[in-house]
Amino acid sequence: MNTFAGSIRSRGVTRRDFMKFASVMTAALALPVRYTGRIARALASAARPTVIWLEFQDCAGDSESFLRSSHPTAGQAVLDLIDLAYHETIMAPAGAAAEKNLRDAMERARGKYIVIVEGSIPTAAGGAYCTIGGRSAVQILEEVASGAAALIAVGTCASFGGLPAAAPNPTGAMGVRDLVKNKPVLNLPGCSVNGVNLAATITHYLTFSELPATDQLGRPLFAYGQRIHDTCPRRSHFDAGRFVKEWGDAGHRQGWCLYQMGCKGPKAMHNCAAVGWNDGTSWPIEAGHPCIACTEPGFWDGSTPFYRWMGESLLPTPHRPARPQGSLGIGLGAGAAAAAAAAGTAVLIRQRKAGAARPDSGAGDPGSEGE
Ligand code: SF4
Repeated sequence: MNTFAGSIRSRGVTRRDFMKFASVMTAALALPVRYTGRIARALASAARPTVIWLEFQDCAGDSESFLRSSHPTAGQAVLDLIDLAYHETIMAPAGAAAEKNLRDAMERARGKYIVIVEGSIPTAAGGAYCTIGGRSAVQILEEVASGAAALIAVGTCASFGGLPAAAPNPTGAMGVRDLVKNKPVLNLPGCSVNGVNLAATITHYLTFSELPATDQLGRPLFAYGQRIHDTCPRRSHFDAGRFVKEWGDAGHRQGWCLYQMGCKGPKAMHNCAAVGWNDGTSWPIEAGHPCIACTEPGFWDGSTPFYRWMGESLLPTPHRPARPQGSLGIGLGAGAAAAAAAAGTAVLIRQRKAGAARPDSGAGDPGSEGE
């Protein structure tokens, strides 16, 4: 059975785990709990979309991120949600056989398949900096995108050029949206993409037959609708003026704010505090490291140097700029997924009222219909 439910059932995943996955996706999408049933029914019946995964100038960190995702139980969330027809890193065929796989998938699902792009696209020197099978990344992207229903750029490199686009950008690296203008393109930036957000995006597509609502940078509001700073578990310390001054000092050991150690949380949009990493085990700020704003355009040029040498130690680069303004003054505990989901829903509603940008397809939020 070529559905998500059929795929996980064949691996012995229970109904209980399936419902747990549906509820995790509901929370990740910042939807009210009443949507869980609708999402479960959609996942049980919707055919898995054909996905073509392209890799260009990248470190394969985004592939690693989704391969390590663990919901519902076996680290196969994304693989179960989609029919992955082409992925250079994990597919068995190579060479001409791999190229045939790509062409067969494009023919079989023309107009319906989703393209996931990992890595930036080099445009300098006629695209010579990245070629596969004798064709440049630009040529491959243009050809594969022409038959796609939509594209999802995973990671900051595919979204905004990322690290390869850092000054002086010798390869002319660009993001997918810079080159593909006639198809909907969703950006899931991050270094790397969070596998939960990728699974939630595909879940949204299967449930509502459209990509989720986005901000002006093409990022879905459910995952990029709030500043890290406004959901940070250290926020109450920021408001009280309790800052870590030195790596390992008493404030650091007590979980105080990392702003004076260079934290870029005030300018970074992401749901790290709600979703976490490694099965929600932790995330950088919770682990005691400043945010580097890896979801923002130009973060490599704007956030580096991440570290400086102090004697024999490598320490985060501190800064002491003025405190950010306009914050909500709310500090949420790490892992407070339900509260963050509720807050995210409020953001969605506020931005809907404000006429927030939608993907090129005109895709919107899932509407007010509940279950
Ligand atoms: S500056 Fe960083 S550590 Fe401090 S509250 Fe904001 S996001 Fe959290």
